[in-house]
Amino acid sequence: MADKVGMAQGKCSRCGRTHRAKRPATPTICDCYTICPLCGREMQPYTPDLDALAVYDGGLEVYYACYDHAPPCYSRQRPVEVGLT
Ligand SMILES: [Zn+2]
Ligand SMILES: [Zn+2]
Repeated sequence: MADKVGMAQGKCSRCGRTHRAKRPATPTICDCYTICPLCGREMQPYTPDLDALAVYDGGLEVYYACYDHAPPCYSRQRPVEVGLT
């Protein structure tokens, strides 16, 4: 118990990265949803056209795009919430 005082940690279920935070810790968001699955670089936020948005309830989907590919790589990965224990 003594060695756990102060820090909580949890692993992202998608990328396996370990997140740490001071206790008391609240769940944190892993930013791996902004990383291009093809080249591993950070993607740019991408705003779909309104017709596409209307398909989704509330238009709250998060879109990212990497323009280093032809065609560009579009991602609709959702942020991963990592629980810290
Ligand atoms: Zn992650
Ligand atoms: Zn890429």
